[in-house]
Amino acid sequence: MSKTYADLHIHSPFSLATSKKMVPEVLEEMAIIKGINILATGDIFHPEWQSILKKTLISQDNGFFRIKGGETDFILSGEVSLVFGEKGRKKKVHILILCKDFKETEILTRAFSPFGKLSSNGRPFLKISLKRLVEIVREETKDCFLIPAHIWTPHYSLFGSKSGFNSLEEAFEGELDRIIAMETGLSSDPPMNWLVSDVMRFNLVSNSDSHSPLKIGREANVFGEIKSYDELIKAIKTGENFLYTLEFFPEEGKYFYDGHRKCGISLHPLETKKLNGLCPVCNKKLTVGVLNRVYELSGISGEYKGEKKDFKYILPLIELIAELLGKRENSSAVETEYNKIIKAFGSELSFYEDIPLNEIEKRFGSKLSGAVARLRERKVKRVPGFDGVYGKILLFE
Ligand SMILES: [Zn+2]
Ligand SMILES: [Zn+2]
Repeated sequence: MSKTYADLHIHSPFSLATSKKMVPEVLEEMAIIKGINILATGDIFHPEWQSILKKTLISQDNGFFRIKGGETDFILSGEVSLVFGEKGRKKKVHILILCKDFKETEILTRAFSPFGKLSSNGRPFLKISLKRLVEIVREETKDCFLIPAHIWTPHYSLFGSKSGFNSLEEAFEGELDRIIAMETGLSSDPPMNWLVSDVMRFNLVSNSDSHSPLKIGREANVFGEIKSYDELIKAIKTGENFLYTLEFFPEEGKYFYDGHRKCGISLHPLETKKLNGLCPVCNKKLTVGVLNRVYELSGISGEYKGEKKDFKYILPLIELIAELLGKRENSSAVETEYNKIIKAFGSELSFYEDIPLNEIEKRFGSKLSGAVARLRERKVKRVPGFDGVYGKILLFE
């Protein structure tokens, strides 16, 4: 069966802290190098980016768009940053919106305009509640759909510990109509999400949230054959023809476990609970991480509320080569090796997914094939980040 790889969340040069290189031609080129078949445009509500895309993208009449001579199916999408007060507390939540055609993106652009300055940022701030956003999308469009983005990041997400919500009901007040999935983001993987009943009501998607070309496809969704936007939406919503997701190791983040950096203390949330949240060395309050928030909303049972799609872990190939060679990620030796691997095997994702280990060993040696084997068997060593210290994934031990 032919597989379809989709990355549905990226940003354009009009978003803050995004590479100027994120133009349609480069996105097309990178999608091919990475092995991504369906790529989001990102930032579709930004007037200038919208007009660039209108000039470059040709409708395929199935909800997909291509650049001239291109082979990547683009879909129109953008992320909005809702900022609003709720019961005296400030809420900040990022939501990803998928659109079928430019007509509907224009309708939403007009509908959002009174609530924020769309030209100031590719990911615009909108002063409206989640409930109101869902209402607008439901009332104004037929084929636009919503996915709460990177749902566990502390500051800008649906369930974030700093400015998010404790439940779906509290967040949306029953208005869940156009929500088709939850995005796990780089800071969580599927098993963490299986702990929380509210999340389990939806399928989980994984996207790169890329701000630069090389990061495209660092997380992705894998489907069977997908021939249109409608088929894509249906697969995400129902899970039919949705095979699995490709995941970043969430332990790499610098606030995954709880801990106290000064004392070198790193703890799983269940251990933090036993210690009443206090550092066992200095007795000060521990800095709480992302996993703790997941446990908080799960009822601290540590039990799965079910299981969803299968998934696989991947690591950015550049990172893996840098570790293998003992060089920096942006060194020319790493770049040369990366290009050789892509040339040999077609794309980064086909290298991880499809190439037999003996073939990798034959062309690039047993160290690299051994690392891929450990990754495929989930036998890598994972050292969780805590209290501002980055975690590590050790492949070559
Ligand atoms: Zn975001
Ligand atoms: Zn301490």
